[in-house]
Amino acid sequence: MVNRGYLPSAAAVPAPDMSFVRLFSDASLGWQHRGQYAIWSGTSSQESRYRLLERIGQKVACLELADGGPVFHRISRGTPFTIENLMGYWLTLDSDAMWLDTPSESGRYALLAVGGAAGKPATATVDWTCPSCGTAIGSRTVPIATAGFVAMLKVAEAAAAEFDADAQSRRCGACEMVHPPTAAMRSGRHLQGGA
Ligand SMILES: [Zn+2]
Repeated sequence: MVNRGYLPSAAAVPAPDMSFVRLFSDASLGWQHRGQYAIWSGTSSQESRYRLLERIGQKVACLELADGGPVFHRISRGTPFTIENLMGYWLTLDSDAMWLDTPSESGRYALLAVGGAAGKPATATVDWTCPSCGTAIGSRTVPIATAGFVAMLKVAEAAAAEFDADAQSRRCGACEMVHPPTAAMRSGRHLQGGA
């Protein structure tokens, strides 16, 4: 099925409990809310495309096809993931999310849908992945249910800033490799342009 349902809207971005608006305000086409889902979408060039990475044990899987073909993938609850060139940290939610990454006329089109059940996601774990051995670094759990999703994202962003500022906190407990500052995880954002 071709997805043509998520074109940019002129309406203001809604601000329910679940919103990635702070996280994804750059380079996004915008938000739509459908039922209990919060849906982000964005476009990118082929070179700086958004890539979904999942951490499975101590290995990192890149959810893309060698030929660049469309991928539609369910991020299972409890699976740490990040979106390369967009997020400065890894996120683990207690509800499933859906990811779509597909070629488009302008390069790549990506979509992330979170939610789908009342009160979910209720908690998030923010951490980083050692680039050398895949061990989680700096893990912290942030409640969503009480403070709301936007508040959780603020905490995650603050955590990423602390992580960047202190090289000791970026040192892997298993292999001692120092994780680079998270700006590297977001490289490419500036290529997307504003508006
Ligand atoms: Zn390590």
